[in-house]
Amino acid sequence: MAKILCVLYDDPVDGYPATYARDDLPKIERYPDGQTLPTPKGVDFTPGHLLGSVSGELGLRSFLESQGHTLVVTSDKDGPGSVFERELVDADVVISQPFWPAYLTPERIAKARNLKLAVTAGIGSDHVDLKAAIDAGITVAEVTYCNSISVAEHVVMMILGLVRNYIPSYQIVVDGGWNIADAVSRSYDLEGMQVGTVAAGRIGLAVLRRLAPFDVKLHYTDRHRLPREVEEELGLTFHASTQEMVPHLDVVTINAPLHPETEGLFGDKLLSTMKRGAYLINTARGKIADRDAIVRALESGQLAGYAGDVWYPQPAPADHPWRSMPHHGMTPHISGSSLSAQARYAAGTREILESWFGGTPIRDEYLIVDGGKLAGTGAHSYSTK
Ligand code: NDP
Repeated sequence: MAKILCVLYDDPVDGYPATYARDDLPKIERYPDGQTLPTPKGVDFTPGHLLGSVSGELGLRSFLESQGHTLVVTSDKDGPGSVFERELVDADVVISQPFWPAYLTPERIAKARNLKLAVTAGIGSDHVDLKAAIDAGITVAEVTYCNSISVAEHVVMMILGLVRNYIPSYQIVVDGGWNIADAVSRSYDLEGMQVGTVAAGRIGLAVLRRLAPFDVKLHYTDRHRLPREVEEELGLTFHASTQEMVPHLDVVTINAPLHPETEGLFGDKLLSTMKRGAYLINTARGKIADRDAIVRALESGQLAGYAGDVWYPQPAPADHPWRSMPHHGMTPHISGSSLSAQARYAAGTREILESWFGGTPIRDEYLIVDGGKLAGTGAHSYSTK
């Protein structure tokens, strides 16, 4: 029987919710590319309830315990004395979410002698050292597409929030003021702007589709080009590289995975090639942007705004400069963990575990590493050097 170690974020400070703002979730059968939503044999949770925090347990306890497995759930994940580090030594399966990542470093993987499967309850497995996982024969899987649309919606919200100066205007209301000049002196229309995405995968393409009705000019760069029909339908301009694309843009949104090709991509050099007053939205991974270079660009006015929900490390320390830099619209890492998304990634995690324990293949699109190499979605979108 297996030991499953699940790392989840803390419950709300006022306790696990007894009631919710809404009674149900819309029914969605398929994702935009036709892929089906997770199809586990059953679920033991109510869609729309909080599943991603410790008491929610991703709705997995009765399923796992009924099969004789042991489930350990904790939010205590960092440092040598943490519950995660202690329990990892004999865990067979680790489950963690990008919002509250259990970093599986080479050192931790070396200590985890029984570890065979690392599941990301979400998308983005960069908290796992993929090279070390490959060397140790660990399978890495994530719930591809589960929250791509959730993130795309957050990106659109953040673009509009920055360009229209929403957050400072809201603050004026909260503070009892009515100073219109202060609010509008940094407020513009998005219409007509040049907007581009670094990567046009599931999230990037969904962002482009959602922005098209705003009458903006759309651009993208990616390692693989989109079908010609899609380029024509959305009026997309393709650029061969990020470096070539960003000088043309008023708004840049980053939607690529973090891997050696993208780490530190938005540093002083690339930022200096952007238009003065451009906006940068990064909901992909914090490390794709150079922390201090972003602060400098906002302070000098090179960037008019920066928003996103991804940081390094996570949780971000209280003195992280992105909390206090000017003209930012940061949130904690929430975009992919709406209650809607949680229902999908909890079901997807269960589907992966049903396949794993049932000895049937995990869906190819959920695989990142398998059989000692990048596999499935991992082989398409990631690199290890
Ligand atoms: P996809 O795998 O669908 O898309 C990723 C795209 O990035 C692919 O089209 C890939 O290209 C492209 N890409 C990879 N490397 C580069 C590069 N160096 N330059 C340009 N393009 C590149 O993933 P999603 O769209 O679903 O998710 C993207 C990322 O967003 C995730 O990896 C994760 O880090 C982040 N994310 C954040 C969330 C949040 O809550 N904030 C939630 C979910 C995801 P190709 O495949 O053509 O090689």
